[in-house]
Amino acid sequence: MNSVFLGLGANLNQPATQIRSAVAALQSNDNIEVVACSSLYGSKPMGPQDQPDYINAVIQVETSLSAMTLLDVTQGIELKLGRVRKDERWGPRTLDIDILLFNQEEINQERLQVPHYGMKEREFVLYPLAEIAPNLTMPDDTPISDLLNYININGLTKLSSL
Ligand code: ATP
Ligand code: MG
Ligand code: MG
Repeated sequence: MNSVFLGLGANLNQPATQIRSAVAALQSNDNIEVVACSSLYGSKPMGPQDQPDYINAVIQVETSLSAMTLLDVTQGIELKLGRVRKDERWGPRTLDIDILLFNQEEINQERLQVPHYGMKEREFVLYPLAEIAPNLTMPDDTPISDLLNYININGLTKLSSL
């Protein structure tokens, strides 16, 4: 079994519902078990500011799927829940599912880089991650509790349970 942390984000079409639907879709896959869910958090958008605030969460799943097959599944769920891929980077979206960590592996392929390149600097990833895995370390042995010391909370607010 592979232990995986996924980062979820949404800022359109009732974002909390989008995130809950994404977790339900993952759980309904026979090869994926959701083992932990953070609270929902409200966060400010990255990049373009003329878009609604985001709702984010981090979940832990156990899966027999390979990292690449899991990416196929998460991208399928993004599309099923109405994500339209646009050219604008970090623009508004109904749902984003990023693979943050896959065991303690480092993956550097064209379609998939793990650990996710942005996770160390993103408050909307690190705080929910620390909520469900406070003692986690990165593959380079950095404790995530250390990473939290370096980032700005940037208006992040804990909202409710997922
Ligand atoms: P960011 O990656 O900065 O959070 P984003 O999530 O909005 O931005 P997407 O449009 O969701 O970016 O993904 C762009 C591409 O990133 C995808 O087509 C996917 O192949 C690739 N990708 C690379 N590494 C990962 C990862 N760890 N998790 C999810 N997608 C990844
Ligand atoms: Mg993302
Ligand atoms: Mg993404």
